[in-house]
Amino acid sequence: MKEFKTESKRLMELMINSIYTNKEIFLREIISNASDAIDKLHYQSLTDKKSKIKIDDFAIIIKVDKPSRTLTISDNGIGMTKDELETNLGTIAKSGSLDFKEQNKKKENIDIIGQFGVGFYSAFMVAEKVEVLSKSYNDVDAYSWTSTGTEGYTIKKSNKESYGTDVILTIKSDEEYNRFLEDYELKNLIKKYSDYITYPIKMETTLDNETKLETINSLIPLWRRNKKDIKEDEYNTFYLDKFNDYEKPLTHIHIKAEGTLEYNSLLYIPSHTSYDYYTKEYEKGLQLYSNGVLIMEKCQDLIPDYYSFVKGVVDSPDLSLNISREMLQQTRILKTIANNIEKHIKNELIDMQTNKKEDYAKFWEEFGLQIKMGIYNSFGMDKEKLQDLLMFYSSKENKLISLKEYLDNNKDEKAIYYACGNSIDQIKTLPQVESAISKNKDILLCTNYLDEFVFKTMLKYEDKDFKNICSNDIDLDTTEEKEELKKLNENSKDLLDLMKTELNIQEVKFTNKLKNHPVCLSSTEEVSIEMEKVINAMPTNDSINAQKILEINSKHPIAKKLQDLYINDKEELKKYSKVLYAQARLIEGLPIDNPTEISNLICDILTK
Ligand code: ADP
Repeated sequence: MKEFKTESKRLMELMINSIYTNKEIFLREIISNASDAIDKLHYQSLTDKKSKIKIDDFAIIIKVDKPSRTLTISDNGIGMTKDELETNLGTIAKSGSLDFKEQNKKKENIDIIGQFGVGFYSAFMVAEKVEVLSKSYNDVDAYSWTSTGTEGYTIKKSNKESYGTDVILTIKSDEEYNRFLEDYELKNLIKKYSDYITYPIKMETTLDNETKLETINSLIPLWRRNKKDIKEDEYNTFYLDKFNDYEKPLTHIHIKAEGTLEYNSLLYIPSHTSYDYYTKEYEKGLQLYSNGVLIMEKCQDLIPDYYSFVKGVVDSPDLSLNISREMLQQTRILKTIANNIEKHIKNELIDMQTNKKEDYAKFWEEFGLQIKMGIYNSFGMDKEKLQDLLMFYSSKENKLISLKEYLDNNKDEKAIYYACGNSIDQIKTLPQVESAISKNKDILLCTNYLDEFVFKTMLKYEDKDFKNICSNDIDLDTTEEKEELKKLNENSKDLLDLMKTELNIQEVKFTNKLKNHPVCLSSTEEVSIEMEKVINAMPTNDSINAQKILEINSKHPIAKKLQDLYINDKEELKKYSKVLYAQARLIEGLPIDNPTEISNLICDILTK
């Protein structure tokens, strides 16, 4: 006997001792595995020219033997080799286990069972013994895997004529489990949970010594049925099962297209990213069917990169079964379908954004980055398609808003103002931002490293420019204020030049835009300070420097002090310049090159 891996053991204990009332889902899980196994064999046979497999022969057969209390679920799918039995049933499937852990952290144990992706182990909720008798299509030997629970399992060589798998459950002896041996009950469960399965699920019944096979499921895949006959629950169950998720999707899109191009599609927007979503391993794509027969597991051409999170199926009678991958990619049909699908997704998202704000907020948190990348990576070419989906945090509304909402809320503004930083709170304390907020400006507070790059690639939204509130040429003053400031800067030209030379930066000037703070740093338009930080943090050798401008609050006592120093002590003025510039860099979150020197200078000034 072999022991289960620790994780599997824990899950199994949960299953066996479960007081979960929904034990009946075990049947759906096993049938779904059987259907997957048939899919796999069917798929393999498509690429194997010698294959004699006929699609009409595929079936899942359910058989009850009351005297021995066994319920058998058989399939003529791909089967499992000895090794596969070991790895597939000895441990929880890799993705499943991750999901499980994830769930386990967040929720009560009891809930996990109600979630999905625990699959095969749910059999132990109703069975005291589980035997899996399997023969792989790619092997000559059959093997049997048996387990009575957490102790472990045994695998031995066995006999089985044809390829496929029999899952034989010995149903627990307590009375409450008797119903799982009743044909009537089993038929109901198949109808309830597995009706969408595309292969026939047949019940074997014996009457007057005559064995009959009766097909229980309707065999019309969910996506081909009429929308009005499908309940929300059915849509969700289908999703959870087919796409191995444990959380309901945010929404589904059911398309039935008729006319020149006929196709059915059922698409889902998940409620969370999968654990590998933002990695190279993640593969986008929709399942492609021709008249209900799977011809491609992940058809990438059906979905653009920025919607790579969308899951679903496309089924069209206009696609031929034997079409090869390369040919498929070129078909005009696929292109047309892809374009249509994209429009539907966009409409659904816009609808969610307008009418189901909470859902959209969730969507945005999970997949917003993908949309931003879509704009950035296409150098703005896909901007028209994606810009209305964008959301940013408004300083006035204190919540996420769309760019359209920004324009509606700020009709008189000349531009769309934004500021960047690590967190909303940190950005709000930036001198320029604090001052602009006090002037009742609405500022988009951007915490994602990509945000500013997105604005730069978009250039404009509608007819409004994006303006970084921390940039040098930001102008929120009245005409008199501007005049006054201009005069001050002109009259102080020598002072400012001296400081500029000492600091070796683009410019030093007096400003009106600060409320209480003495200084701030700004940059010329092309490269902002936030962009400098992002680019310099990347693991390449490129480094860039924003053209920095030290701005000094003209109303702050330090302004007067600097003017005095210019007249009385130019050497001291140089020291002050360095300290003020270091301060401005620190506030912006930039490093200072010479901390020891600055520290000494501060002490010097303090002890005067
Ligand atoms: P999941 O189906 O979520 O991957 P399960 O615990 O239900 O997890 O199943 C584990 C694995 O065992 C499956 O991924 C599959 O490879 C294999 N398996 C289960 N049932 C069958 C079957 N009837 N035929 C072939 N392989 C199967």
